[in-house]
Amino acid sequence: MYGKMREFLQDNLKEIRQAGLYKNERIISAPQGTTLSLQSGETVVNFCANNYLGLSNHPLVVQAAHRALDDWGFGLSSVRFICGTQSVHKTLEARMSDFLGMDDTILYAACFDANGGVFEPFLDGECAVITDALNHASIIDGIRLTKAQRHIYAHADMADLEEKLRQTQSCRFRLIVTDGVFSMDGEIADLATICDLADQYDALVLVDDSHATGFIGKNGRGTPEYCGVQGRVDLITTTFGKALGGASGGCVSGHSEMIEFLRQKSRPYLFSNSLAPVVTATTLAVLQMLSDSTNLRDRLESNTAFFRSRMTDAGFDIKTGIHPIVPIMLYEERLAHKMADLLLHHGIYVIGFSYPVVPKGLARIRVQISAAHSLEQLEQAVDAFSSVARELGVIK
Ligand SMILES: *Cc1c(COP(=O)(O)O)cnc(C)c1O
Repeated sequence: MYGKMREFLQDNLKEIRQAGLYKNERIISAPQGTTLSLQSGETVVNFCANNYLGLSNHPLVVQAAHRALDDWGFGLSSVRFICGTQSVHKTLEARMSDFLGMDDTILYAACFDANGGVFEPFLDGECAVITDALNHASIIDGIRLTKAQRHIYAHADMADLEEKLRQTQSCRFRLIVTDGVFSMDGEIADLATICDLADQYDALVLVDDSHATGFIGKNGRGTPEYCGVQGRVDLITTTFGKALGGASGGCVSGHSEMIEFLRQKSRPYLFSNSLAPVVTATTLAVLQMLSDSTNLRDRLESNTAFFRSRMTDAGFDIKTGIHPIVPIMLYEERLAHKMADLLLHHGIYVIGFSYPVVPKGLARIRVQISAAHSLEQLEQAVDAFSSVARELGVIK
């Protein structure tokens, strides 16, 4: 029986390769960090991890994880409502709520699951979801699981959002959904306008703050803090798999009845194993670190400003902004990939992004800055970018 499918899969895989869309995985042979040892033996400076605060292999975080294993064991072997809730899960939910300034929080195995489980319980066929065209894949999938009307507004287009709100006035509930930060551009959503429109049209707001929690805003509380709308967002989904230590896990924070309702109805929560105790306890330790001091997010902010200004001075076309995602615009697909390859030989690990991940003709190299990068490493990157770009005629 498999023969026919094998042929089909082999043909498809060949097409993916021929189209240049095949995703190769680079194997690293040591912990995640600002330098990486590749299996080839090369050591390179890493500019493509979501390790924004440098916590993935931070000594205090690793120590907390060791302690957590001793205190809580390795596995829970249960879902939350049978025998999978330890006090550490409840403590993390409480601290996360405080950190984000929300009533309550529910943990998931990943933010992908949080987004997979947050829409369907609240919205039926009489409701509407109004969603930014560039929202994350997990939001798109989560919305697919509802019977709600789906209205997609042009990316960051507030006039189009208002138009969609006008068209859906007869719906029972309406939920506006946006990424807090759009990861291809490091662009921050205009939450002030979104919350104003939500007030005006009586809609709810959900923000996925995966690329912001822990470092965006003066206290790292995310895009609602940065945009001055803390307390006006109804639901926040976020990940522990990026700035907050980078292992895995995610959550939804929101009004207490909404979170209580999710505990009763949300399928990825009800029918999937509890977040591992070691991840739960260590994420709690990370939140404590970030609440005690803003040093790490301050360092990330200054590293980002330094890199952005040096690259601009060197003549690169970068999308302006403040986010540690720095898109170096090259426009041509082949150029972006060629340049990323050459940079690797100069000891700089970055990734070229092209269609279909970004629109045709808008290829780029996406650089991600970390608080753990030293000024020397940032300078090394600017020098490598400059020499490779001169070689390729991108800058003079
Ligand atoms: C990374 C990311 C996710 C997925 O988070 P996981 O915890 O890794 O599943 C969801 N939404 C956005 C916007 C993200 O950037």
